[in-house]
Parts: sequence; structure tokens; C-alpha cells
Amino acid sequence: MSNIKFEIITLFPKAFELIKNLGVITRALENNLINVKLHDLREYGEGSYRQVDDKPYGGGSGMVLKPEPIYRAHDSINKLSKSRTLLMTPQGKVLKQKDFLRWSALDQLIIICGQYEGFDERVRCLADEEISLGDYVLSGGEIPAISIINGLTRLLPGTLGDPDSLIDESHNSSLLEYPHYTRPFIFKEMKVPDILISGNHEEIKLWREQKSLERTLKRRNDLISNENYKKSPQSKRIKKDSNQLMKFRIGNGYDIHRLVEGRNLVIGGIKLQHPENLGLDGHSDADVLSHSIMDALLGALSLGDIGKYFPPTDEKWKNADSLFLLSKVIELIREEGWEVNNIDSVIVAERPKIKPHVELMKNNISKVLKIDNNLIGIKATTNEKLGPEGREEGISCHSVALLEKK
Ligand code: SAH
Repeated sequence: MSNIKFEIITLFPKAFELIKNLGVITRALENNLINVKLHDLREYGEGSYRQVDDKPYGGGSGMVLKPEPIYRAHDSINKLSKSRTLLMTPQGKVLKQKDFLRWSALDQLIIICGQYEGFDERVRCLADEEISLGDYVLSGGEIPAISIINGLTRLLPGTLGDPDSLIDESHNSSLLEYPHYTRPFIFKEMKVPDILISGNHEEIKLWREQKSLERTLKRRNDLISNENYKKSPQSKRIKKDSNQLMKFRIGNGYDIHRLVEGRNLVIGGIKLQHPENLGLDGHSDADVLSHSIMDALLGALSLGDIGKYFPPTDEKWKNADSLFLLSKVIELIREEGWEVNNIDSVIVAERPKIKPHVELMKNNISKVLKIDNNLIGIKATTNEKLGPEGREEGISCHSVALLEKK
């Protein structure tokens, strides 16, 4: 008795000669652990020419596999009790290691291979699952089918010499496997990590778990969900962990400056005219909009606030152009590996009217951040004569920034 019977519906049965030359898979065939039966679609073709394909309705290039031969081939297969039918298509669910585990309990796996432009849409009704090998298009379903036979067979008991080698493997635990080394100890000046020859199995196990986590974070961040990451013990986590895991970060910034006589009123790099000739007091140009955006950006990465980078005690920043300071902050954000996704700000000022200047402010900020100005929201409101802004003692601004990992 074989463990699994693969029944392949294909126009190119000869393509499956390959599995007779695939090491452990070939051995599994010879030992009857698997059985592969090929159903030549041509034999189920229509008429004396055994036609299997036809032109697409509605026009267009290429040929489409007709439904009747595929249905006939599928009907001819004697279905075992635990049987599933897979349709190979780039439109299916992308094949994952966990699928092999799931299918390894079956008696029978029927695989339908497409060709040319694909198959008639009605063929989909035959399939329990539609499977894609990856986000690219091949010329036929034979290589995907061979991949499935291969990946599934090596999981069956009796195929691999050492069943333990299946446990740590990449993708089993949604982590990539740790690095392997074999003799020689030093090769082209590259040395095997000392820990592997220490003989300390506990230490080696920990080292491997750590490497596995590090590799996955670095190469396939997408495989790590917060869930399985949290489950891994603290000791195995990586120091800069949360920064590496997150794809988005949000920050919040707030600033207020006093309205005084004898100072300019600069907001978003635009010089405004206050009816009472008041301006904003501060060490730099006291541009509340630029300041709150900087704080939102720094805050998103937990990098502190602008006071840390441009201290008011430093003469260098006296009357500084805040757009220049913003350009420095954005350099820092990029150096850390992040991009600005969007910004949203609200300026709270009783007078002067801010709205007529909003477009120019957006242009200034977008130039410095090097993002489209429709990704920058600037709104203005009064404080209904309430509080310091309402009494015209000052002007304030709130901002939020969303950053995305590059
Ligand atoms: N025009 C079709 C692709 C046809 S490719 C479409 O855009 O969907 C021809 C056949 O090759 C398909 O029917 C399918 O059986 C197989 N094939 C191609 N790429 C594949 C992939 N990534 N995964 C699984 N099967 C694929």
C-alpha cells in the first residue's frame, strides 16, 4: 500500500519523467510510499484529432483548454476516501509549507495542470483548491505539480534518512532555518562559528534559535506576525526588535508660541501679517507648524523632540529657519530607514486668517519632505475666543505623522 496516490491530469505526461531522477522522491516511488498515475489529457480529447483546446470566446490571443476532456479525465479517476483535487493556476492561493502538512494525511491528490492561456473557467468547479506556485506565470501546470509531489513526498515517513531534519526546517514554524556548516572548519578564510564545535548542545540550540529569528527578521520580515514573535521567549528576541518588526509608525506633535510685538509671524515658512503687527516669540523663527511636524516625525520613531536636536540654548539656532530644521529632521528619519507616508496638522489661531495661505504652506512643507502635497493636510481653526489662542496670547499647532519602513 502506498501512502499517497497522485493522479495527474496533463497534456505533457513526459514532463513527469523528472520525478524518476529526484533522489528521495525516486526512492519513495520505488518503495511504493507514493504512487504517481499520469492521465494524458490528449486521450480524453474530442473527435478523431483528439482536440483538447480551442480559441477563446470573445477573441484574444492563445488557446484555452476545453472543459470536456478535463472533466472526462477527472471522472475516469477512481476516487479514494480521502481525496482532494487541486487546480494549478497563478490565480490560486500561493503554496505554503503548511499545505504539504495538511495534504500529507490524504490518500489521493488529483492535480490538474493547465497549459497555453489556461483552461475554460468551468474547469474551476472541479477543484477543491486552486494553487499557485508563486506570483509569476509559467507555461504549464506540470512544474507546479512536480513541486507539490516533491514537497509532500519528502514529509512522508520513510522518505528522508533523518526525520528530525524536518522539524527545524524553514517555514515549518514560519521562521527560516538557522545557517548550516559542514567540514572544513575554515574555508577561504571563512570560519565556522566556534559555538558549533563547543559540544554544548543547550548553547547550540539557543544559538540556532537566535539565528533563525535574526534571519527571518532580516530576510523575511513578512513571515513574522506579532503573535508568533511575542510567543518567542524574551531571551531570543533581538535588541532592536520592535523597530524591525513594525512597518508603520505614527507620531504626534504639539507646539505653541507666544504672540508678541516686534517679531515676525512665520507659519509653514510663510510670513503672515497680524492685524496688530504681532509675531511669534521664540529662539528660532517660532514656526509652530514646522515645529509640531518635526515633533510628530521624531515622536513616531521615539527619537525625542526638537529641543534635543536644536536646543534653545544653542546660539546656532537663533532665528533659524524652521524649514531648514525640518529638512535636518527628515534626513534623520531617512537615515533610520523610514519614509513619510502622510502628515496632518491643525493650526489654532484667532487671527490672522490662515486659510488663504494653506496651499503655499503645503507647497513649502512638501518640498522639504519631498512628498506630494496631497499627502500633507493643513487645517486651521480658531479657539472660539477660549484659552490662550482665543485670547490671542499665542498660536498653537497639532500634527500627526505616519511613517512607513523603506
Ligand atoms: N492566462 C493564465 C495563465 C496561463 S499559464 C492566467 O493569467 O491566469 C498556463 C498554465 O500554467 C496555467 O493554466 C496553470 O496551470 C499553469 N501555471 C502558470 N503559472 C502558474 C503558477 N504560478 N502556479 C501554478 N500554475 C501555474
